[in-house]
Amino acid sequence: MSDRASRTFFIETLGCQMNVYDSELLRRRFLQEGYRAAAAPEQADVILVNSCSVRRKAEARAWARISLYTSIKGRPGSPLVVLCGCVASRATQGLGEGSRGRPALVAGCGSYDSLLAAVEAGLSTRENGGGPVLLDDSPSGSYRMPVTDEPSPLRAFISISRGCDSHCTYCVVPSARGPHRSRSLDDITEEAHRLVEGGTRDVTLLGQNVNVYQDRGANFLDVLAAMEKVPGLWRVRFTSSHPRDMTVEVLRFIGRAENVCEHLHLPLQAGCDATLRAMHRGYTVERYRELVETARAEIPGVAISTDLMVGFPGETDENFEESLRFVSEIGFAAAFTFIYSARPGTPASGLPDQVPEDIKRERLERLLQEQNAVTDALGKRMVGHEVEVLVEGRDRKDPRKLSGRTRTNRLVSFEGDPQLVGSLVKVRIESAGRWTAFGRRPADSAT
Ligand code: SAM
Ligand code: SF4
Repeated sequence: MSDRASRTFFIETLGCQMNVYDSELLRRRFLQEGYRAAAAPEQADVILVNSCSVRRKAEARAWARISLYTSIKGRPGSPLVVLCGCVASRATQGLGEGSRGRPALVAGCGSYDSLLAAVEAGLSTRENGGGPVLLDDSPSGSYRMPVTDEPSPLRAFISISRGCDSHCTYCVVPSARGPHRSRSLDDITEEAHRLVEGGTRDVTLLGQNVNVYQDRGANFLDVLAAMEKVPGLWRVRFTSSHPRDMTVEVLRFIGRAENVCEHLHLPLQAGCDATLRAMHRGYTVERYRELVETARAEIPGVAISTDLMVGFPGETDENFEESLRFVSEIGFAAAFTFIYSARPGTPASGLPDQVPEDIKRERLERLLQEQNAVTDALGKRMVGHEVEVLVEGRDRKDPRKLSGRTRTNRLVSFEGDPQLVGSLVKVRIESAGRWTAFGRRPADSAT
């Protein structure tokens, strides 16, 4: 049996930013234990699939990957295949559709503290064919990001809370990720300082509902205030905000804090009170409208993005039309659009009046058309304006150019010296496509 130093691991991440963060946490824990990262799954002793179960398709994709990886015959024996993340948590609770492929370990979101030891034991015995071992999935894990001496990425996530206490009737997150737990403000601040020392300039704070953050009297405003004081942290964003819990004080703070970006992700889900009520979202269309008005008054130039869902059970044609009108009234800078997916174990999956699939698809198509028109119009409005861009690297589509993001999270492509990567530059926008704006550095720019 090989020793740890020659053992390799591979992580595949599916799903949301929280999974991206958790995969980084697991990657660092494996490295800390002496494992090496494999370039491809075929070269790994351990393969981890960090899965998402928010929609049925995402869950099916995770099982398909498990099935693929458990069929690999490679290094001595087969790789040890581990199912992590939300699908693993649901499988531990007996929910989900895990009939295809058999991972050696099922490690839900609350089991990462015991995962390394379980992998170690699994590798010693290589019991891949023996049926999955379900790790204890409790929400009390430490989730501390291990320190490494690698340079930090220019943009990074920091998790400020885990789990969720809201009970939106369609959502698996509270059962998969457990109740809301806030991370200590000291831990968050320490991680921000460390990231910035390693080169990070843009941080996104993560939580299912950042607005309900609470740590020994400190609330979300205190988190933002702490981030404002981190020297060298140029940009701060956060996701997701809950329209029920967002406050005027937070909006006002964003408006005056220099490093908190004019970019709000405020998931609406539906622009119709009847649907919002059935979803248990806890706000009305009018409350959302007022929030947007306040945000626009307090944060000049704010870009508001959102999540929208079509085909929630009971959503009538009239309800959908009302939603569509509201979406066009607000004018979102960007929207993640979803077809409602019935998830076993959630209240909405048992509601009568499930909407037929063809109608859901039609509604999604119309919503996308509406949103694309708004996104295009907002892009055109940038033309002629000068924006501040954090230069991230070469433009993937045209490597002769550089690309980066505005404070409002728009991608910008422009010509410039690669030495500018990692710095803030001014770019005058000359044209705009749907996802990328194109521009030139003003003639009087220094570099
Ligand atoms: N906590 C965040 C919030 O409250 O907005 C979002 C978490 S969820 C992982 C991301 C998005 O997935 C949600 O905003 C919702 O639009 C979508 N979503 C969640 N459950 C869904 C379901 N059953 N079917 C379709 N979309 C869903
Ligand atoms: Fe899911 Fe609602 Fe919690 Fe967001 S707030 S994670 S949609 S239950």
